[in-house]
Amino acid sequence: MIADLLKARIRENGPLSLAVFMAEALFDPREGFYATKNPIGAGEDFITAPVISQMFGELMGLWAAQTWMDMGRPAPLQLIELGPGTGAMMADALRAGRAVPGFSNAVEVTLVEASAALKAVQGRTLTPSGVMARWTDRLQDAPPGPAVILGNEFLDCLPVRQAVKAGGVWRERMIGLHPEDARRFAFVIGPPLGADEGLVPARLKDAADGTLAELRPGDRQVVEALAARFAAHPGRALFIDYGPAQSEAGDTLQAIRGHEKADPLTAPGTADLTARVDFESLIAHARAAGLDAHGSVTQGAFLTRLGVEARAAALSAANPGKRAQIARQLYRLTDETQMGSLFKAVCLSSRGLPPPAGFDAHG
Ligand code: SAH
Repeated sequence: MIADLLKARIRENGPLSLAVFMAEALFDPREGFYATKNPIGAGEDFITAPVISQMFGELMGLWAAQTWMDMGRPAPLQLIELGPGTGAMMADALRAGRAVPGFSNAVEVTLVEASAALKAVQGRTLTPSGVMARWTDRLQDAPPGPAVILGNEFLDCLPVRQAVKAGGVWRERMIGLHPEDARRFAFVIGPPLGADEGLVPARLKDAADGTLAELRPGDRQVVEALAARFAAHPGRALFIDYGPAQSEAGDTLQAIRGHEKADPLTAPGTADLTARVDFESLIAHARAAGLDAHGSVTQGAFLTRLGVEARAAALSAANPGKRAQIARQLYRLTDETQMGSLFKAVCLSSRGLPPPAGFDAHG
């Protein structure tokens, strides 16, 4: 079991970074949460916007097509999705994109997916539509060229580290064994971050003793990969995820199993582990890396600007028996009490493109 292997590592080498714990729990090739099965769906562990409603993926497809036009209709266009889950979003996006003349013929689809099990699910979702997709494990391995890159609930499962300020110094909060019961994991305070202090969100750097900060090295790697790619070829990446617009202190590590919150340190590999995306730091880092950034805007505002209400009305008119169901989907995607305000959209682009659809002129 993953837990046993991690405990053996701790006994041998001392406490582990939370990022290591998360990476093993999610992606251990034999027992990792994502590595072995599809966890996304009403009967599974958690649900996401593309699985709630086809409208979500359709609007992403129209956004991608608009971006393609903004870029001067390059052919081919690399349409790349990071962490496609079931593949539902890409299937809906490509179907909607057919309404835009020339777009379907221009796109080449790449799915960046770490999980072998999910690659198979994505293949089954996309094959009926006749889409030829290619798969890679990393963004860096996707084909070069002008690109639109999409990622829904991708950043939130990138492994995070945590740090606590103590005696004026940031120290890593790590995972060790419980002092009274070595069968259990427990958080322990580790060594000072040292050179990694640069990963602490700028807004929290001078916070008082006792403050807990989350560090998101994975976001930085994604930004750096985008910056390298967009330095050579124009492109634009859209991320939608949950988290605050401004960096916040506190532990946001969350485990979800069977749609219920669970203890993140119990039975790693059997629950989804995520942490809130820090949009302020993501944007600051993207700008420092030479990218244009728009957002963050709330998912509710973003989808509304892209026309989700008109799409819901059209779908209801075509399927009168599903009117109530479509209204419920719209509510879940856009209402403030649902995904509408906790979830945000952010757009990171190569320099010099017109403002992206769905973000206001200042965003
Ligand atoms: N976008 C989908 C799935 C979200 S779950 C949806 O909205 O329904 C997160 C997805 O990202 C899964 O497909 C997971 O396997 C993938 N993933 C997470 N970290 C990854 C990484 N570092 N590289 C590639 N894929 C990753």
